[in-house]
Amino acid sequence: MNLQSPASTGISSAPFDISDRTIAYFSMEIALSKTLPTYSGGLGMLAGDTLRSAADMGLSMVAISLLHRRGYFEQHLDGSGQQTESDVKWSPETTLPDAGQTVTLSMQGREITLRAWRFDVVGVTGHIVPVFLLDSDIEGNDPWDRRLTDHLYGGDTYYRLCQEAVLGLGGIHLLHALGCQPEVCHMNEGHAALLAIGLLEERVAPAPLSSATEADAEAVKQQCVFTTHTPVPAGHDKFGLDQMMQVLGADRSAAIERFGALHNDLLNMTYIALRFSRFVNGVSMLHGKVSQQMFPEYPVHAITNGVHAATWLSQPFQALLDNQIPAWRQDQHYFRSVYGIEPEVIEATHQISKRRLLDTVRQRTGMVLDPNVLTLGFARRVATYKRASLVLHSPERLMKIAGRIGGLQILMAGKSHPADNAGKSLIRDIFAVASRLKQSMLRIVYLENYDWELGEQLTNGVDVWLNTPLRPYEASGTSGMKAALNGVPSLSVLDGWWIEGCAENITGWAIENCEDEAIEAERVYEKLEHCVAPMYADKPRWARLRRHCLAINGSFFNTHRMLSQYVSSAYFPSSGADAVSDEGVDDPREQTSLAEA
Ligand SMILES: *Cc1c(COP(=O)(O)O)cnc(C)c1O
Repeated sequence: MNLQSPASTGISSAPFDISDRTIAYFSMEIALSKTLPTYSGGLGMLAGDTLRSAADMGLSMVAISLLHRRGYFEQHLDGSGQQTESDVKWSPETTLPDAGQTVTLSMQGREITLRAWRFDVVGVTGHIVPVFLLDSDIEGNDPWDRRLTDHLYGGDTYYRLCQEAVLGLGGIHLLHALGCQPEVCHMNEGHAALLAIGLLEERVAPAPLSSATEADAEAVKQQCVFTTHTPVPAGHDKFGLDQMMQVLGADRSAAIERFGALHNDLLNMTYIALRFSRFVNGVSMLHGKVSQQMFPEYPVHAITNGVHAATWLSQPFQALLDNQIPAWRQDQHYFRSVYGIEPEVIEATHQISKRRLLDTVRQRTGMVLDPNVLTLGFARRVATYKRASLVLHSPERLMKIAGRIGGLQILMAGKSHPADNAGKSLIRDIFAVASRLKQSMLRIVYLENYDWELGEQLTNGVDVWLNTPLRPYEASGTSGMKAALNGVPSLSVLDGWWIEGCAENITGWAIENCEDEAIEAERVYEKLEHCVAPMYADKPRWARLRRHCLAINGSFFNTHRMLSQYVSSAYFPSSGADAVSDEGVDDPREQTSLAEA
């Protein structure tokens, strides 16, 4: 046992009773606080925002993730945009209470003992959703195993499979050891799929897995809900059968095969999740359809993502809304009431965040930007399908536009996965363009180490949020939702959430997708020069546009709405409760197929 002495840490380790919790949420990454490096990007942010809404709504939820003692990584960029990485070290021992429970698991042909640290997500009314962060760094474990919960998305496929075994199997066994038998287990992405095997083990214990019947598998399926998050093939973890045998052992491997959960002779986490879930969903209406085409043998629904409003609204907006429509904290339908606030007040509130952001840029880079100049933001994981450099396709063209519209500033940020050389070279390309433009009306600044804090400042403070993914690979996207909450319109390719959120000239602007990148870039330039810039120059109209963003998109693209849909459609569907339709909308823009990509 690894019970920390509370006296030595100053942290109360009073156990938290989770025996009555009905929903268990599993995610490889969760953004829990600005100071904990337990996330990498959108998936972790969504998980954190989901739990923050669950706590606000008083849901009977508990969550499982890994500790990530060394985090994802901190990004360093030299003068040419060359990325290097360093570990983020933190000490759970001095930060979090110990859950006071260990579990021992057999994997890789040996035993591994896990403990967990507890992070409490506290809602508006004080309700707590506890999160258990599994930790393998325990004396007595094999030295290699002690490093298993260090690096989020680190190591090779073998390391990854071990981590997924810790998450899924370790997580279920920990919950049971803590007296919790959840009615619903939610797999946030396929990384957590092995929880189904954990449930099967608990069900037949102490008998071996080989005694599990089809009825047992069906019972497990009735407990599980699966959200798939990406149509990008590399986003779906696959492992060879030899690795499956090595890590999971013969019994589990045989069970996975026997219940038809292998795919193309590979251990494919998405297919395990599909096989063992009674409800499967994508994260936007379009992504639901695209996923349905990818997995025709399983019904796939759609629940569009959201963001946690109180986390992403700027402080000045929070103060304004607390004053004008205080009910927003419990119920974000009330964002519609911003139509009762004068547009100039909304504009002035945004200006505070814009100045704060430009101040941060000056402190970090020495670049002095002009608060009166149209400022675009583009920040996300540097994955090639997100096409960070589309807007820079023709720097000369962009420079001319900047000259004609009175100047243009573009703020960019994003980390490339350490092993993604294409992503790293993309950052260098952007640096090269930016340095060529130093003296012009066009300023491009790439900010180092995109994280929660920077994401907040950018989405709060820029004038327009730019998004140019290769359709249909942006399953949802959430940063544009954070922007909308802060009165920031999007200029975006019609993909993911934007198909549902775009009202042309009202909440932003759509870029039609095109096979030819040069043509698509030209469309961005056209919209920028002839739609965005003229409206930006018309201050009263721009202020009304800001207000529409908050009223129309803020009131819908939030995790309170999203989670209500999970509760009524996925977690506890009751007869007749048809709150979420998976029929989609009759919008021709939505007709797509993977072949088009
Ligand atoms: C919101 C957020 C993301 C996800 O944004 P996308 O639009 O889905 O790319 C990633 N990283 C950070 C730091 C964020 O705040």
